[in-house]
Amino acid sequence: MNAGKTVCIKQVPEYDYPRVKQALDDMIGAMPGGWQAIVPRGARVLIKPNFLKPAPAEAAVSPHPAVMRAVIEGCMAAGAGHVVIGDSPGYGTAQRVAEACGVMQVAREFGIEVVNFSQSVTIDAPAGFIHRRFEVAREAAEADVIINVPKFKTHAMMVLTLAVKNLYGVIVGRQKARRHFQSGRDYQHFARFLLELAYTLKPAISILDAVVGMEGNGPSSGTPRPLGYLAASRDMVCLDALAAHLAGFSPQQVYTLAEAGRMGLTVDMEEITCIGDPLDGLRTRDLKPAGQMSVEGPAFLRPVSWLVNRFVTTRPKVDARLCCRCGICLEACPARCMSLADKGPVAINTKACIRCFCCQELCPEGAICAHDAFGVHLLRRFGMEG
Ligand code: SF4
Ligand code: SF4
Repeated sequence: MNAGKTVCIKQVPEYDYPRVKQALDDMIGAMPGGWQAIVPRGARVLIKPNFLKPAPAEAAVSPHPAVMRAVIEGCMAAGAGHVVIGDSPGYGTAQRVAEACGVMQVAREFGIEVVNFSQSVTIDAPAGFIHRRFEVAREAAEADVIINVPKFKTHAMMVLTLAVKNLYGVIVGRQKARRHFQSGRDYQHFARFLLELAYTLKPAISILDAVVGMEGNGPSSGTPRPLGYLAASRDMVCLDALAAHLAGFSPQQVYTLAEAGRMGLTVDMEEITCIGDPLDGLRTRDLKPAGQMSVEGPAFLRPVSWLVNRFVTTRPKVDARLCCRCGICLEACPARCMSLADKGPVAINTKACIRCFCCQELCPEGAICAHDAFGVHLLRRFGMEG
């Protein structure tokens, strides 16, 4: 079996710990060498969950503590020398996120530290990548093994956040905003950055928590959506391709997968081996995305970018009733195009906005959503959004 192009999937209808543990052990046991091949004895392990903001487990913002417990137990049983959980959340600290979602309690039981990334070091990218080096969290650079634990969620900018996108969390603090600004509205370029970063870090395995994912105004303020599975793979893109496929998205509709295809990585379901439970019962056809169309608009209109930018795009929109004027989005905005007057909700200068949706992602009140411009609705009516 080619472990690289294989995705293991198990049906897990709820976060019942024995069932989660059994499913994870079955998936890892089906891979050549099992846990021992992933975590060599004595290895320093970094578990990188998707920690975005402090929220309870039921909100489906972070991987569930039952999944994290099963991952930790697997690492310990394989003989890991040192295990930490680490991230650099968009809002709050890793410790606060872990407390809110229940992962901190699990970490305490196992005597594991939860670290908030704060120091960056430079690592070289492999030859042939566009990016020559990356500034990443010291803990990620120094780990012998990275275990990537994404959560299935919709994402206003990238359409879905899965295994590849989760590793953006190794970019420390405000450097994330700078990186967004450098890519501007070039979403293909940003996707390439994510892919090259992920394949420079090369996690030993990615374990996707899709028992309950998120739809709608994701990745922080959407609606929990039961999807009923866990999936794992040595290859992040294969894992993401399967998760997108089950949710009804083609690789062309998800920026990281479209770019992965251009890089020659495997995104075609016919080339991916799926083992574990049958896929049929795990398909979702009505998952609500964060926006109805890619933020670049449909491909056929991109040559007339002025039209796309004005009438056929998806933009952040503030709900004045929900905005509590906390100013968090202003801090996060890479383009510095948001403002707060003496009264009223936050305002956005749409001409300067690069549509990175950092504001939507980090608003603690869910007051910002991805709003489809008039042309998006029109094109959808005529089935021309592709
Ligand atoms: S939009 Fe959200 S983050 Fe921005 S000021 Fe209002 S409540 Fe705060
Ligand atoms: S307003 Fe929001 S979407 Fe626009 S650049 Fe600022 S953070 Fe990004």
